[in-house]
Amino acid sequence: MIFDEQRALVAQGCRVAAARGLVDGVLGHLSLRVDDERLLVRCRSDTDGGVAFTRPTDIRLIRFDGSAGAAGELDGYRVPNELPIHVETMLANPEHRAVAHLHPPAVVAADLAGITIRPIYGAYDIPGAWLARGGVPVYERAVLIRNTQLGKEMVTAMRGRPVVICRGHGITSAATTVQHAVLQAISLDALARMALRVRAAGGALHDIDDRDWEDLPDLGPGFTVDAAWRHELARLG
Ligand SMILES: [Zn+2]
Repeated sequence: MIFDEQRALVAQGCRVAAARGLVDGVLGHLSLRVDDERLLVRCRSDTDGGVAFTRPTDIRLIRFDGSAGAAGELDGYRVPNELPIHVETMLANPEHRAVAHLHPPAVVAADLAGITIRPIYGAYDIPGAWLARGGVPVYERAVLIRNTQLGKEMVTAMRGRPVVICRGHGITSAATTVQHAVLQAISLDALARMALRVRAAGGALHDIDDRDWEDLPDLGPGFTVDAAWRHELARLG
């Protein structure tokens, strides 16, 4: 099949997200834009074992309108109901080549608890701290995002940020690569877990000191993406 390497990568991304507890069961999906008209997306079939067991063959080539991207691509496979999440996120920004839509319980719980994701830590996870500093917006509707209008609504709520929390639902994380989209979701989950933990211990949430930012450097993709991804794959076993 064409795009074999990319299909394997998207499938890996699904398994990593599941291994990190960002999705459970059969819900959640990843996608990767491959050209002006088509994307690879995690599809469903009658032999589907769930997101944690995603196979490269579960990743199908489709057009932005949800039709098959090549002969046979949708034979025995169905695109996710929430395909508009992927399509509208990609169409809104050419840098959004990879999109992860996941249902991480800690992020959903933190939002429902009234917690706004803020940079409450620094060197604990530098990419996560910067992600929080830029702001993590919330799409306030808990709906299944199954049409173009709802997809556009969610993208508007993203306000140009790479991640958005969908209230009572999950998250969407967009990046130039599958690895980055998933690692970004893992960082957001870590922020939410820590916030819940601090609150559970009776503490209040405070942003880190402004003067600390200059000593929270970008350690470079070799460390923050390549090494981090190797670790995620190693954890899969
Ligand atoms: Zn969803």
